[in-house]
Amino acid sequence: MENQGFRKNLINIEPYVAGEQPKNDNIIKLNANENAYPPSPEVQKAISGFDAAKLRLYPDFSGEPLKSTLAEYYGLKPAQVFVGNGSDDVLAAAFRAFFNSDMPILYPDVTYSFYPVWCDILRIPYKTIPLKEDFTIDVNDYAQPNGGIIFPNPNAPTSIALEKSEIVKLLDANRDVVVVIDETYIDFGGESCVDLLDKYDNLVLTRTFSKSRSLAGMRLGFAMASEELISYMNAVKDSYNSYPVDAVAIAAGVSAVNDDKYFKDTLAKVISTRERLAKALEDMGFTVAKSAANFLFAEHNKFTAQEIFNFLRDKGIFVRYFNKPRIDNRLRITVGTDEQTDKMISALKELIG
Ligand SMILES: *Cc1c(COP(=O)(O)O)cnc(C)c1O
Repeated sequence: MENQGFRKNLINIEPYVAGEQPKNDNIIKLNANENAYPPSPEVQKAISGFDAAKLRLYPDFSGEPLKSTLAEYYGLKPAQVFVGNGSDDVLAAAFRAFFNSDMPILYPDVTYSFYPVWCDILRIPYKTIPLKEDFTIDVNDYAQPNGGIIFPNPNAPTSIALEKSEIVKLLDANRDVVVVIDETYIDFGGESCVDLLDKYDNLVLTRTFSKSRSLAGMRLGFAMASEELISYMNAVKDSYNSYPVDAVAIAAGVSAVNDDKYFKDTLAKVISTRERLAKALEDMGFTVAKSAANFLFAEHNKFTAQEIFNFLRDKGIFVRYFNKPRIDNRLRITVGTDEQTDKMISALKELIG
């Protein structure tokens, strides 16, 4: 008889499930909030021109010169910036560095599903705070004893941004814990809290190159905070992986940040398509949350989200459906190119009439 006692010691987690990555190039992929447009041509040049001989050496351990490029762009000191392999890696360092209390950390009940994954892996106690009926965050709900706070602004998958004045209220009520704001989608609409970093030394902002800078495949993310908090994230990172971002990614990231015109033009295109799509969806009987992101969160007045999801999927159009409490009749639809958007609208018209 084999001894199976070891199984009780295996990790007990529900793995994070990402949007499908179908292999067929003919499909329209609007299920992972990737950018509709390619990265800046400067990124292509940086990669094509990268001298492979340099890969003989380890990359810079702190992600230079990307760290300084980001610091300058956001008006911070390089020591206030942490770079990592995508913001999921950055979030992992933040959870390890800042959430070490016996009190639960707080985050919304409807939010990015990676947070519970990190809490489970790292055994961080947590408590979810229900969003209001309209899926907005009520900051008063966060004025209670806790071991830290994290939420995305704009929130995912709701797409709704929280006003900075509300965030200030939340920060004022929580000076004794670290507050992490996941600003993954901030470039598409919300108001960044970068200028609050001077005043709140317990505030951490996390960002990614995956969405607004079209580099999901490169794995680049960063955090901005006080020098003190960043030093703790570095200490965590150096303890499990002292060279997180590879040399090619550093070069690509620098070129992406330096081409600010391309960045802003791309954002403007995504935002304009988003507004057009929101209107078209509303005309077809959808309720659409006011989006400050590169995706829409929508519910139809007749067809269930599951029906619409399956219908679109059969036509090779992939959107995101979450079979979860409160949001199981809603779809999260990434804003694609104008052409993709038109195809999706036509497909929806076939179903809805
Ligand atoms: C996409 C996403 C991230 C993670 O992005 P990375 O690709 O790991 O940088 C983090 N937070 C939210 C809310 C996201 O939607």
